[in-house]
Amino acid sequence: MTEFASLLAEIGQCRICAAHLPHLPRPVLQAGPDARLVIIGQAPGSKVHESGVPWRDQSGRRLRDWTGLDEATFYDPALVALIPMGFCYPSAADGADLPPRPECAPAWHARVMPSKARLTLLVGIHAQTYYLQDRAKETMTETVQRFEAYGPDRFPLPHPSWRSTGWMRRNPWFEAEVLPALRLSVRSALA
Ligand code: SF4
Repeated sequence: MTEFASLLAEIGQCRICAAHLPHLPRPVLQAGPDARLVIIGQAPGSKVHESGVPWRDQSGRRLRDWTGLDEATFYDPALVALIPMGFCYPSAADGADLPPRPECAPAWHARVMPSKARLTLLVGIHAQTYYLQDRAKETMTETVQRFEAYGPDRFPLPHPSWRSTGWMRRNPWFEAEVLPALRLSVRSALA
C-alpha cells in the first residue's frame, strides 16, 4: 500500500467526532497526491452519505456545469481532489444540513491536500472562512464578486445548492463574469 493509500485508509477509520454524529462516521472524499485541481466543499449531504460518492447529487451536477468539468474528469483522483471541510455527513436540523464538523479540517486537510495543486476552489462560506483569512468581514457574495483578488490559485464560489438558483438571479454578474473566468481557470489548471 502506498503512503497516500494508507492515509486514506486511516481517514476511513476516523472517529474523532463520532460522539457528535447521529450515525457511524462515513468519511466521503476523493484525493490523490498529484491532483492539479482541489475542490473544497462543505460536507456530504444525505444522498452522498448513502452513496459514498462525493458530489453525487444535484449540487454536484450544478458544480460540474459551473466548472465545465465532465464526470470522467471530475471523478479522476489523479486530476481532481474533492475534499470537503467535514468528511462525514453532519446530519440536518430544521430542514437544513448542519455545518461541517469543526474538528475535521484541522485534523486532516494538511495531510491529504495534494502538493502539486494549481487551483483550489473554495465552495461556500465554511471553506472561505477557513482558507481566506484575508477576506476580513466580507459577505460570501462580496468575496465571490472579488474573486480576482484571491487568485490565481484560489477561487471562491457559492455553494451550488438549490438556493444558488435564486442567488444567481439576484447576482447576474456571477453567470456573466465569474463562470467564464472559472471555466478558464479550471481548464488551465488541468492543462
Ligand atoms: S467528520 Fe472528519 S473528524 Fe469527524 S469522524 Fe468524520 S472524518 Fe473524522
